[in-house]
Amino acid sequence: MSAGLLEASDLVRHYQVRKGGRLFGENATLRAVDGVSFSLQPGRTLGLVGESGCGKTTTARLVLGLLPLTSGEIRLEGEVLPATQSKRWRDLRRVMQMVYQNPLAALDRRIEVGRQVMEPLAIHGIGKSKAERRDRAMAILESVGLQAHHFIRYPHELSGGQRQRIVLARALILEPRLLVCDEPISALDVSIQAQVVNLLLDLQAKMGLAYLFISHDLRMVRQVSHEVAVMYLGRIVERGDPDRLFTAPAHPYTQALVSAIPVATRTRRQRLILKGDPPNSVDIPAGCAFHARCPMAVARCRSETPALRALEDGRQVACHLAAAS
Ligand code: ADP
Repeated sequence: MSAGLLEASDLVRHYQVRKGGRLFGENATLRAVDGVSFSLQPGRTLGLVGESGCGKTTTARLVLGLLPLTSGEIRLEGEVLPATQSKRWRDLRRVMQMVYQNPLAALDRRIEVGRQVMEPLAIHGIGKSKAERRDRAMAILESVGLQAHHFIRYPHELSGGQRQRIVLARALILEPRLLVCDEPISALDVSIQAQVVNLLLDLQAKMGLAYLFISHDLRMVRQVSHEVAVMYLGRIVERGDPDRLFTAPAHPYTQALVSAIPVATRTRRQRLILKGDPPNSVDIPAGCAFHARCPMAVARCRSETPALRALEDGRQVACHLAAAS
């Protein structure tokens, strides 16, 4: 296998916070991301799933250099990414682009969308003239399924789906190799979501793009991902082939997430309801962070933190008790 496009090793991002949010409370460490490793090959998608607050967005921001790492290392095409303030990031941003959840917030309401698509070219000094940059922007608009007349529209004159296409066009104009998509479709109408997902899949096939795809919509993640990683309180608890993971989840937490996916069939699957609230990232329990909510927990789970280990089917799971089924 070729060297990964992106190699993330043991990423950690902690915050110092006041316990309970109180001004004069005790200092505490919030473990937003607490030892996450993964790799991504060109043309592949890694789906990142987990409940709100488990560290997905923080992981994305670390990869894009928008947040400094507490520790760990990220390599892009073999190069260790520098500190976030480094000038090198200007060039690295061409390789990695972010697609945000809310296209309206990502676009400037006062500027024609075509000009917004061209803008990154001017910032990076690409193209000899304005005419050349305009031609490139037109070509990119076409590749995301829009037409020349959309160039002179303002964001509010377009539909939600068209706006997300503009956001994609602006990310793609610099010919990146990796798109970090943070809930890229959750602000769109259900009827439009599938169109945007199909567009992402087409673009990947044509351009060999890699995606880090964050979503709480497990069905969508299964559809787009070559590999899925499930996060719980800042760590990956299960990772592997999407079909295996969704049909025979090995970690009790993944089992609970999968059992909560609405099913449109007559045979009702039993829903696994987790005990208690998710603990917050400040008071992570000792042992397995999931043990207090886990229906299978035994004494060992309360004292010993499980490391990710491979099951016979190639999946990895951080659970003392899990076995491939
Ligand atoms: P997700 O994307 O999975 O919803 P996040 O990565 O946004 O999760 O957040 C992970 C944890 O880090 C949460 O507990 C969140 O409250 C906390 N967090 C995120 N940003 C900050 C910050 N700037 N300061 C303190 N805590 C933060």
